[in-house]
Amino acid sequence: MESRRHLTRVAASGVAVAVLLAPAGVGAASSGARGSAVADDDGAAKNKSERTWIKHEVIAGDLIAALARRYGVTRSELIRWNKLDPERPVIVIGRSLRVYAKIVPPPRERRVHVVVKGDSWSGIASKYDVSQRVLRRWNPKYKGRRSLYVGNLVIVWLDGTSTVQKKVTDEPLPLVPVKQGARSIGAPTSGRIYAAAPIPENKPLYTVLRPRLSFGATHSIEQLQLGIARFRRDYTYGGRLVISSMSREGGGRLKPHRSHQSGRDVDIRLPLLAGLSGSLPKSYDEVDWSATWGLVKSLIDTEQVVYIFLNHSAQRRLFRAAKRAGMSETALQPLIQYPQSIGKGSAVVRHSKGHDKHFHVRFKCGSSEDACRERR
Ligand SMILES: [Zn+2]
Repeated sequence: MESRRHLTRVAASGVAVAVLLAPAGVGAASSGARGSAVADDDGAAKNKSERTWIKHEVIAGDLIAALARRYGVTRSELIRWNKLDPERPVIVIGRSLRVYAKIVPPPRERRVHVVVKGDSWSGIASKYDVSQRVLRRWNPKYKGRRSLYVGNLVIVWLDGTSTVQKKVTDEPLPLVPVKQGARSIGAPTSGRIYAAAPIPENKPLYTVLRPRLSFGATHSIEQLQLGIARFRRDYTYGGRLVISSMSREGGGRLKPHRSHQSGRDVDIRLPLLAGLSGSLPKSYDEVDWSATWGLVKSLIDTEQVVYIFLNHSAQRRLFRAAKRAGMSETALQPLIQYPQSIGKGSAVVRHSKGHDKHFHVRFKCGSSEDACRERR
């Protein structure tokens, strides 16, 4: 057995975390070139044919379940490939695991945070957007310590959990026709829809969860489809996007919403990290915030979005993803309310309670929608 001290030293030495072993998984060469932005009938199914053998070097704090999620595989697969004891699987820091990965995330980046006056476990955890529990696992040498001292070196692994990046492509947008002539009448909280249009089925772009509650104004649906299509074209997210509801066919009250009455409001579930099943995030950790940012940005870029409602606590994650994507805080100020507090500012993305598993987009009135009202 290796001593604990040895393990700690290995963990702190900055090992490369994911090393590509072989370029070709089954089918990887043929389908890889298209990228994963335009999903086939089911985005998740496509990824199965694009597995790659990689080597994962175990660092302090790694958990089998978390690793399985990171690489889009199951816990039992990891156990089987590495001949671990199924009853009580143990992974050892510094050793490598073989993974036939569905997802090959960018390697985690090791940072050393030098503790300064005023730093705390919770403060550092929050700064790097990780939980305190995970931060402590990364730093076993400070195990059990309530406080940190100036000059302590705290290891932080910055995550490349999301594989979503911008890409440059001249693929045509996969748009389908939207029924014409549907117009928004009145305000979102008291209006209705004239000759409502259904959100058309467009499998490569999105899934409509409740078709009977997914009607809207032509202009809003066209902008919705355009924003999502650009997101699919310009970013490498291959997961599902689920539209949970818009309006009833004639508009009017749609419980439990106050708005959603005039065919301009639509709810979209926060996109999940690749490899997770289902479509409803159980926590913010399950959300692909880089994908969320790409989607939000693509929608805003239509210039036809009035608001996007998202809980303030979730905005922090979105804000950080936007910064990772290269946005400056100045450029973000008119777009995301955070870091300003709830109720402050006039950013497009703003707080509204109950938007922590989905966000809500409100589109502008179209130029031909004479009876459409922004407010009551
Ligand atoms: Zn809503």
